[in-house]
This record gives sequence, C-alpha cells and structure tokens, in this order.
Amino acid sequence: MPTDHVDVLIVGAGLSGIGAAVHLTRDCPDRSYAVLEARGAIGGTWDLFRYPGVRSDSDMYTLGYSFKPWTDPKAIADGDAIRGYVRQTAREYGVDRHIRFHHRAVRAEWDSATARWTVYAHRDDTAEDVVLTCSFLFTNSGYYRYDAGYTPEFPGVERYAGRLVHPQHWPEDLDHTGKRVVVIGSGATAVTLVPAMAERAAHVTMLQRSPTYVIALPSRDGLAEALRRRLPAKAAYAVVRWKNVLLGVANFQLSRRAPTLVKRFLRRAASGRLPAGYDVDRHFSPRYDPWDQRLCVVPDGDLFDALSAGRAAVVTDTIDTFSEHGIRLASGAELPADIVVTATGLNLLALGGMSLAVDGREVDLARTVAYKGMMLSGVPNFAMTIGYTNASWTLKADLVATYVCRLLRHLDATGQQIVTPLAPDTDDLEPIIDLKSGYVLRAVDQLPKQGPAAPWRLHQNYPRDVLLMRHGRLADAGVRFARATTTPPAAAGERAQPADTPVG
Ligand SMILES: Cc1cc2nc3c(=O)[nH]c(=O)nc-3n(C[C@H](O)[C@H](O)[C@H](O)COP(=O)(O)OP(=O)(O)OC[C@H]3O[C@@H](n4cnc5c(N)ncnc54)[C@H](O)[C@@H]3O)c2cc1C
Repeated sequence: MPTDHVDVLIVGAGLSGIGAAVHLTRDCPDRSYAVLEARGAIGGTWDLFRYPGVRSDSDMYTLGYSFKPWTDPKAIADGDAIRGYVRQTAREYGVDRHIRFHHRAVRAEWDSATARWTVYAHRDDTAEDVVLTCSFLFTNSGYYRYDAGYTPEFPGVERYAGRLVHPQHWPEDLDHTGKRVVVIGSGATAVTLVPAMAERAAHVTMLQRSPTYVIALPSRDGLAEALRRRLPAKAAYAVVRWKNVLLGVANFQLSRRAPTLVKRFLRRAASGRLPAGYDVDRHFSPRYDPWDQRLCVVPDGDLFDALSAGRAAVVTDTIDTFSEHGIRLASGAELPADIVVTATGLNLLALGGMSLAVDGREVDLARTVAYKGMMLSGVPNFAMTIGYTNASWTLKADLVATYVCRLLRHLDATGQQIVTPLAPDTDDLEPIIDLKSGYVLRAVDQLPKQGPAAPWRLHQNYPRDVLLMRHGRLADAGVRFARATTTPPAAAGERAQPADTPVG
C-alpha cells in the first residue's frame, strides 16, 4: 500500500481540529500537516446536530477562537452560525485544502527507531484502507460517538406507535407543528429543544428523572456591542473574552466554595422567572452541588417563558412503561405523545475510537496518565484535545494547540525528535474528567487518569493554565525528550523521578 508522510497529522475537522490546524499554520509554518476527517463535512458537533433550536450554551467570546473575533451580535449562538464560523476559519487560513474527508482514523502504531507513527484510516466513501505516516499525531476527535447517541432501555418502547427520535440523528422530514411532544431528559439539549419545539407544537413536556441547574443569561452581550462600536474588532473581542473568562472562573470558584449560597441564588433566579406557586424545588433544585454537572444556560430565559406561557411543562417522574400512545409514569400519570425525543445524552468515546500501539505494545488508555491534560504517559509524540468541563471547550483547545506548536519548535531547536510524558510517581490517580454526569460515569473506567498535581493535572482554570501552557517550562520532570534511534522513549509504565529532578 502506498503511504505518504506529514509532519503533523490532525484527526478531526471540528471546532478543535480546524483551530489546531490554524495554530500550526501560524506558529509552525514549516511543518507539513494533513487533517483526517471521518465525515464529509467540516464542523463536527456543529454540523452533526440539527435539532430545532440547536445552539451553544457557552458564550461565543470564549467558545470562539483566540485568533478570530466572534462578530455575530448573538453571544449564545445558533448551531448554523457556529458551523459557518468554523468553515469560514478553515477557508480563511487555507486549512480546507489539507482536509481528507471520509477518512476515519482507526489505528496508529508508533515506532521509536524511525520516530514515526503509522496511521491506518478507512475511507467510508470508497471502502479503501489508507496508510499514512506522521512524526506527531494530534487527535481532535471530540469526546463522543458520532454513530449513536445514548438511549437507555425503556420498557414497552416497542409498543409505541408515534415517532421516537434521538437529537443526534434528527430526521429532516419531522414536522412537529401541532403535535404533542415529550422530551425525555434534563440536560443542555432538552432545555434547548423544549422552548424551540414549543413555538409550533401543540404542547411540549420535558420529562426528567431529576432536575438540573438552569440559569437564564442574556443572549447578547451589552459590553461587546458597546466596545465593538468604539474599538477594533480584535481588541473588543479580547476584552470581552477575558471579561467572560474571569466571570466564569469567579462563578465556578464561588460554586465550589459556597455551594449553598449559589444553590440559593439559582433557586431564587429560577423562581423569579416562573409563575407564582410553581414547584421550583421539585423541578429545578437538583440534589447535587452546582458544577458537579454542567450548568444549563437558557438564553433570555426562553425555557422559563415557555413554561410560564403554558406552551411547555416540566414533569419530574420516572418512566414505568411506554404505551402505544405515549408514556405511563411511576406516579400512574399518563403522558400522551405524538413524538418522543430521547434527549438522554451521548456515548463517550476517547480518541474517536482509535487504538494506539507503541513499539508493538497496545496502549491501554485506562492505564495512562494525562500530562497537562493533553498528552499520555508512555505515548510519544502524541497530543489530544479535551476541552474544559467548567468553561468553553475552545479555551482549552487553543491552549493545547499552542502548546503542541511550542513543543514542535522546541524539538527543532534542540535537534531532538521525540517527546514522551512519564507517569507520575504516585498511585493517587483520578479520572481525567471530573464531572459526575451520567455520560461521564458510564465510560470513566475506559478513560486516561490524571494525577494529583501539575503537570499531571490541569487546574480547570484558564488564567492559571495560560501561565502553564503558554509560558511554563517545556522540559519539566514529567516529560522526556530524546533523539530518534539513540535514547529509547519512556516505556508505558515508566514513572517520573521526584518532581525536582532535571530531565531532558
Ligand atoms: C449539542 C452540543 C452542544 C454543545 N455546546 C457546547 C457549548 O456551548 N460550549 C462548549 O464549550 N462545548 C459545547 N459542546 C461540546 C462540543 O462538542 C465542543 O464545544 C466542540 O464542538 C468540540 O469540538 P471538537 O472539534 O473537539 O469535537 P467535535 O465537534 O466532536 O468534532 C470532532 C470531529 O472529529 C471527527 N472524528 C472523530 N473521530 C474520528 C476518527 N477516528 N477519524 C477521523 N475523524 C474523526 C468527527 O467526525 C468530527 O468532525 C457541545 C456539545 C454538543 C453535543
């Protein structure tokens, strides 16, 4: 089979993969690169999800790229505006010319002697297998399975005669005008779908087993609009981005330090938007603390408006069984439905389902430890993008791409070819994702771990991570640099020396 070689191989042409390619273009213009994309389109999440009302729940000043101002007046933006922004970025920086569509990366094998990865991909359009080599492998494959969302086993579902839909695969022909809709779920997707569908449906019920924290935020940013009139776009964007970063950090820290206060605030804010006598405790007061799971943002309080107007309702109960015409609940109540939407979540998938091997040994992801939240112990010349869980994904993606470019330049400058993280010298390890959401808990055993302290732990705090990733030392105790064919890279289980020992 013919192979071709690039310096850097990016897997995934979503928000992160396109951003990573732009960072490479700007910071490492001498490096060749290609992007493998399993689908036939740019945009990842923002191309796949097409359900009514699909939108971000982060503000676009932090979900947008550091290098490309978000100029749309909507700060909480619609899916198609985000898709357009990612595509325009790819065109503007010439990244689109480097993308190989319909190429699903399935396996990568590292060889220390040649300091190269051999990457195997499958073309979905032609059914061909393709082999490439690269010096650095950079996965930007998101965090969930594209082929199937998560749907629990519902008793009696085979009897249901209406339309059953998962938001990940929204049927183009589905018309919900005048229909009775039940949306099962209480996460970001459910709170987006309910007000959007309620505009045309006869009625929409959000059926949740337990509540989620929901907060109303303005869909436009007053400061951004004022600054845009006075400052160049880049300057206005930078100011608003930092304002939102700092507000986000402050909110998160307050939630962690004073959860009772924040719970009370969220309850009062929800209550103030709902009709008098509404059972806020039953439907909007979760048992967990704020930020144990992601907070759900509703722009301009659209969910609360739909509930107040009677176009939608929240039911907190469990499903006893589906019937032919709807759902029977444990309380005995019946919910008639022409359409049931299972907004029940995603299936987590690490590295887009790729398997890795290093010098003939399979990499067991669950036994690796993440270094700076982006590389894996014992896996040379490899980085992955996993965004923040408590802030916009792109803030971290930008830092990871910046760091990869710094690493590549460092390798050039020192005449070395290989960089391999080591595992920390401790068994005090935790899951890499610290959320307690169902989709995380279902897959946590298969994911890499993180250590108790830097560099094996990120702070989930953008300003601190900026210092570590943009300005911190590259050659620290957690990583080994080497020349090809001389020093072998670290073995999979090899641990770092105590933190102060100089390395590399
Ligand atoms: C409905 C929804 C709303 C969200 N809203 C927000 C939000 O408001 N704020 C926020 O911070 N985050 C949000 N997220 C998280 C969101 O996924 C990220 O913000 C961001 O889009 C992730 O970008 P990505 O490029 O890393 O991954 P993705 O968007 O998932 O893109 C990954 C790309 O990699 C490709 N790929 C995967 N595996 C392979 C493979 N093996 N070979 C080749 N290609 C592969 C995929 O086809 C896809 O194009 C949301 C997620 C969902 C599902």
